[in-house]
Amino acid sequence: MVGCPEELARAFPDHLHEGKVNLKDLLPSELEAFVRLLGQSPYRARQLIRWLYVRRVGAFADMTDLSRAFRELLEAVAVLPSLHLASPQESLQDTTKFLFTLPDGNPIESVRMRYLEHLGPGRLAVCLSSQVGCAMGCEFCASGKLGLVRNLQAWEMVDQVLAIQRRVDARGERVANVVFMGIGEPLHNFRNLLRAIRILNHGDGLGIGMRHIAISTSGVVPAIRRLAEKRLPLKLAISLHATRDELRDRLMPVNRRWNLAELLASCREYQAATGRRMTFEYVMLDGVNDSLEEADRLVELLGGLRSLVNLIPWNPVDHPSFRRSSKIRVRAFQERVQQGGLRCTVRREKGSDIDAACGQLRLREIRRNVGAAPRAENTPAFSAGG
Ligand code: SAH
Ligand code: SF4
Repeated sequence: MVGCPEELARAFPDHLHEGKVNLKDLLPSELEAFVRLLGQSPYRARQLIRWLYVRRVGAFADMTDLSRAFRELLEAVAVLPSLHLASPQESLQDTTKFLFTLPDGNPIESVRMRYLEHLGPGRLAVCLSSQVGCAMGCEFCASGKLGLVRNLQAWEMVDQVLAIQRRVDARGERVANVVFMGIGEPLHNFRNLLRAIRILNHGDGLGIGMRHIAISTSGVVPAIRRLAEKRLPLKLAISLHATRDELRDRLMPVNRRWNLAELLASCREYQAATGRRMTFEYVMLDGVNDSLEEADRLVELLGGLRSLVNLIPWNPVDHPSFRRSSKIRVRAFQERVQQGGLRCTVRREKGSDIDAACGQLRLREIRRNVGAAPRAENTPAFSAGG
């Protein structure tokens, strides 16, 4: 029989969910192959894409321009899983944080940002998680605290956008920008990340332009190189946070594997391949990395690159010795970097910009579930640094 589950399972072994084909995890070209295996015309794939990503329905039964027989066949061989929105969501001004539960019960979070000036009216940006937890273990980060549980599948990244888009559909708003800056190291989940980006980008579906998709990385150098080779006009942000290997080794264990010289060399390759300006994120830790000498070294380090330095006020997670830099120190650092000829901004603190502390809500949820003292509770999810 054409399209029997065994044949489909063989065709899409990495995209099964509860023994059936997970259509939300397929690239448009794979959806075409899927409908062909069911003996249908490729046009059906276009219809499915429209239902999934434009009309955003959650069940085959709602796909009313498909024949009943085809819908029943789809029910038998395929599934459309979705993320569960665990309430309450937390809001502050223009920013809303969502805690989602994955089908296996793991929590992740995403952030919706409204009215960033450069987006225009009715345009939103969302900050997505790429993994459950993170293996990189950065000293200052909530996501690093619990280690890596697993990679997110592509559909679990895309569904964060779909779930948020559905909530703003009625207001006529549209998710126009996506940043992979939530929980996880996106370049540690390279294949699924690229798959998610291709699904988000496809013109028949959500149509989010590659230029409007940003990836933030702690510096997984071989993956930066692989990404450069793909020559996609994706925005790349590097979490730098230090200008000396000795300090960066301590703050970010990834630096012991690929040091600053190797990281900056890969950034140059990325810029040469894509022509895109690089963003360097720099979390401001009082007395640790916020001196004017560090600012001077930063200017030296980034010489020859087209770059933007984004200073991030540290959002406190429980740590015995770190404190956020004062506004005066942040301003002085910014001015020094600007005097050195680099563009340098300070992440705004009113929740209207990217929330740097994605991971805190999840950490709190996990602590609540395991019954440990919810120490993160003392830190409002939107404390000044958020
Ligand atoms: N893993 C990727 C992307 C997620 S983290 C990365 O590290 O780039 C997104 C950004 O938030 C990174 O620049 C990270 O260094 C920063 N960040 C993490 N914890 C933070 C905190 N408590 N306060 C401020 N920024 C933080
Ligand atoms: Fe992972 Fe990024 Fe947090 Fe480092 S800063 S632990 S890479 S999420």
